[in-house]
Amino acid sequence: MSTNIKQSIRCPKCENMSDVTVWTSITVKDSPDLKSDLLGGKLNMFSCPSCETRRLMPNPMLYHDEEQKLMLLFSPADDPIKKQQMYDKLKTSSRKSGELEGLEGYNLRFVSEYNELLEKILIFDNGFSDKAIEVIKLMILSQEVDKSQQRVCRFGKLENGALEFMIYDSIENMTYTSSVPLETYNTIYAALIESGMKPYSFDWEIVDGAYATRLLDGFNNKF
Ligand SMILES: [Zn+2]
Repeated sequence: MSTNIKQSIRCPKCENMSDVTVWTSITVKDSPDLKSDLLGGKLNMFSCPSCETRRLMPNPMLYHDEEQKLMLLFSPADDPIKKQQMYDKLKTSSRKSGELEGLEGYNLRFVSEYNELLEKILIFDNGFSDKAIEVIKLMILSQEVDKSQQRVCRFGKLENGALEFMIYDSIENMTYTSSVPLETYNTIYAALIESGMKPYSFDWEIVDGAYATRLLDGFNNKF
């Protein structure tokens, strides 16, 4: 079931008060309209009726897609230490509550950025593994190693038998696209499964560039 809370917010710019509906949980099956709002960048976004200032609400939100066996916990955080603390807390409370036992075969992901949340939804909606996608993103970014720190790569879409990625360069302030053939994805996915990667979770996971680096390190040590 999708749940929300109402909050009164003071606009950080004009200081007018207004009411915001904050969604704390979304179940896709019951609320396809909420999913499309989320993908449109409209969910949990405070928009001041007086001056139109927009801010993402800091509240955590659980995204649950029963059909895909996917659960994403979005907990906004810019600070890596705070992110790690929230992640540790989530793992501890999940273990204590025993909720993981009812989630066999699920993919459970912890994300801290709005765009990362949207990307995960797109990846799973297209039937891909985000673990294989993160490996491909590393490969794309390593094509220009000296610029990899200033770039963010995100999966965009599947089109004409190719996966399209968007690469944003924060120094050049430019967005590039990069296409990877579906066969390349399939080959990488098969190799990762072969090497022991599980296509589902045993616990909450953060699957990002650091995860893919660790995955490849293990992979290289094995072969
Ligand atoms: Zn305002």
